[in-house]
Amino acid sequence: KTRVYRFGNKTADGNSKMKNLLGGKGANLAEMSAIGIPVPPGFTITTEVCTEYNSLGEETVIELIKEEVEQSIANIETQMGATFGDKDNPLLISVRSGARVSMPGMMDTVLNLGMNDEVVLGLAKRTNNEQFAWDSYRRFIQMYGGVVLGMKPESKDDIDPFEEIMEHLKHKRGIELDTDFTIQDLQDLVYDFKEAVKRRTGHDFPTDPWDQLWGAIIAVFNSWNGDRAVYYRNMHGYPADWGTAVNIQAMVYGNMGDNSGTGVCFTRDAGTGENIFNGEYLINAQGEDVVAGVRTPQQITKIGSQRWAELATVDEVDRAENYPSLEELMPKIFIELNEYQDILEKHYRDMQDMEFTIQDGKLWILQTRNGKRTGAAMVKITMDLLKEEMINEKEALLLIEPNKLDELLHPVFEPGALKRSNVIAQGLPASPGAATGKIVFFADEANKYKSTILVRIETSPEDLEGMNIAKGILTARGGMTSHAAVVARGMGKCCISGAGALKIDYKNRTLTVDGHEYHEGDWISLNGSTGNIIEGKVATMEPELSGEFGELMNLADKYAEMKVRTNADTPRDAEVARSFGAQGIGLTRTEHMFFEVDRIKAMREMILADTVKGRKQALEELLPMQRSDFEGIFEAMDGLSVTIRLLDPPLHEFVPHQLATQKELAEDMHITLQAVKNKVAELEEFNPMLGHRGCRLGNTYPEITEMQTRAIIEAALNLKERGKICRPEIMVPLVGTVKEFEMQEQLIRATAENIFEERQDRIDYLVGTMIEVPRAALIADLIAEKADFFSFGTNDLTQMTFGYSRDDASKFLPIYIEKGILKVDPFEVIDEEGVGQLVKIGTERGRSAKPNLKVGICGEHGGEPTSVEFCYNTGMDYVSCSPYRVPIARLVSAQAAI
Ligand code: PEP
Ligand code: MG
Repeated sequence: KTRVYRFGNKTADGNSKMKNLLGGKGANLAEMSAIGIPVPPGFTITTEVCTEYNSLGEETVIELIKEEVEQSIANIETQMGATFGDKDNPLLISVRSGARVSMPGMMDTVLNLGMNDEVVLGLAKRTNNEQFAWDSYRRFIQMYGGVVLGMKPESKDDIDPFEEIMEHLKHKRGIELDTDFTIQDLQDLVYDFKEAVKRRTGHDFPTDPWDQLWGAIIAVFNSWNGDRAVYYRNMHGYPADWGTAVNIQAMVYGNMGDNSGTGVCFTRDAGTGENIFNGEYLINAQGEDVVAGVRTPQQITKIGSQRWAELATVDEVDRAENYPSLEELMPKIFIELNEYQDILEKHYRDMQDMEFTIQDGKLWILQTRNGKRTGAAMVKITMDLLKEEMINEKEALLLIEPNKLDELLHPVFEPGALKRSNVIAQGLPASPGAATGKIVFFADEANKYKSTILVRIETSPEDLEGMNIAKGILTARGGMTSHAAVVARGMGKCCISGAGALKIDYKNRTLTVDGHEYHEGDWISLNGSTGNIIEGKVATMEPELSGEFGELMNLADKYAEMKVRTNADTPRDAEVARSFGAQGIGLTRTEHMFFEVDRIKAMREMILADTVKGRKQALEELLPMQRSDFEGIFEAMDGLSVTIRLLDPPLHEFVPHQLATQKELAEDMHITLQAVKNKVAELEEFNPMLGHRGCRLGNTYPEITEMQTRAIIEAALNLKERGKICRPEIMVPLVGTVKEFEMQEQLIRATAENIFEERQDRIDYLVGTMIEVPRAALIADLIAEKADFFSFGTNDLTQMTFGYSRDDASKFLPIYIEKGILKVDPFEVIDEEGVGQLVKIGTERGRSAKPNLKVGICGEHGGEPTSVEFCYNTGMDYVSCSPYRVPIARLVSAQAAI
């Protein structure tokens, strides 16, 4: 079995298809090398070795790969003409992690490995650059110390132990920038760093390059199980046994003087999707300088520079003039880079995110990957690639990440409110969207308020969880490729980076702009599309489905077989859903209509009534209100099917539980307070979710079913009179026995017949049931003999199959997921293994009795991508989901059919 794969010199053992084995980075390095892109030579230790490490331990694994690693290092030595650990002509290497999917900032990197007190002199001699050699040495100790030896800040208020030493020296020497250090300073730093390591770890810093290498390899393996990686994996549902590969590569240097540099570039705009080559670079710098956001980087292209200058502060523009674009500064290198970006995008047929280094006038490509992008950019890039005929329609649909569409379906700032708003500063538009929230300064406090904006000088991978919770992210430092920017775009989260005008004081928890001080808890708003930072809370509005997004949806409909309906309780919801392309309503929860102030009274009177007559009287009052609701919904749906469910929740939800309201009700109804109290006590249940609800209500209080049926049928007839068609589908909830359904069905049909008689007119309608009690799924064949359609209520079906109370599961589900008892929340993603079986059985048995039985789903799962795919595979006719998820479900429906 091969555990080590080599690449370099325009050849490679692996290729881009081997992502599972070589990790994304390793597979791409191999592929790039094979297609003639100049990548520094190196090799990849496979992800399988990571898994072997986890089960066999360090010693055994080193034994397994020792020989292959040694030979591969020798191979790099030959190609670079330098020797690992040699004091005259040393080869230095980088060690990076690389899982099969990109996990930004998750895993650790060590650069300049192979350095020690002798090697540094050799490097200085060979490059004729003592400054550079010592700078590389101090960077190496810093990174190796942090990543491998655990030299991290001890608490969140603490700064990095190495940074602290550097700050101290800067202060003493009266200098500001890292580049101001003299050779002597750097030598002092190296000494102090090593002392700090010894003090904290109790061991000398390793001087033997091979010890360093093995330490780094093991550290990469360990980082796969680090807190941040585990959090990210759980967030995305990536299994622990994927493991990470280790990429080892010859170092090339961007910090060898003014003829060197390093940068990051995108073949298209990751924020907007425009087909514009763009990126950032720094002269005389090493890789992490660009993303760390310590220096503000310069643009790759001349146009990029101009655009950037329009947004930048005067101070930044001044600095930019000292560092023009790469296109102007190194035209030959730019042309070459431009060629490679073109080759790579065409080769991978997707937008690429590339890293490059210029070492003493020679361009090296360090990495390429499919670039992270915002939802808007994803749609634009995909539709453009389709128009450019780089991909076909099916490929285009498959390039869309369903959940990312969500970003396009969320509010933007209201133009009017935006005009009146007070822009206090501007940063880089790092990740578009609108966010409004209260200021917090620490990632682990991102949930301190309901909506927060995380304000940081810069972010680091430790902040990931908080970034995910916050509504938006604002940083004072860093470019478009800073950690904050890249991660935010990946999350689809609004982000503004590099807002240099902000003065952030963590200790006092303040943010100062132009002498104005803002505090933790103050509202601010971010416009991630323009970079504007706005004082206070700005009103937002609903997005629209137009342009490329509309084209994409049309394309999805062309391939989709399963229909997408919506869950909507009001005409407004129905309209929103239709504008998102809903093909009907799969669930109208009628109880929501009773909660409005003027209706709840009539509802309460109905519940409190002691006699059938009293109940009927109260229901009479409710009838016109329900009827007009239904008319509104039918109108909005304009001829499409509308499923209306009869009253479902337990009655106690409607009665007042507070004394003041009870008194009010007693007065209104001219009954005693005690009578109200008695009724409330009588309705109380130990487990309302399994209590007197669903068709159990309709069967004990048939008047309710009668009234609701009348409202539905009369509404439909009224519309018919106005020349409009509507197709009501009346749905009975929580059925568990045939008789339960039968009694409701007979009542509904009898009521409808009465109305047809009265009106001397009729309409077509269906009577069906929800399948949400496990027993109903098991006897689905018997129910289907009577029912016109089934709709799976997977919320209740999940509750009853697992025996997890919907209302109480949040107390233990997070712990279950953390402990790995469950992979995901089954109320969010359908549990195919268990609940899914009941859905399959229910569908099969139902159709065995009635082959053309219409089957759908209306539980929350109807808008969740993997669950939608499951529904397609089960053979459902439609899924029904909340209006904002309709486009996502339409896309998944198409993807499933492809
Ligand atoms: C369900 O149980 O899945 C359902 C759609 O009904 P509700 O959520 O209203 O109980
Ligand atoms: Mg239900």
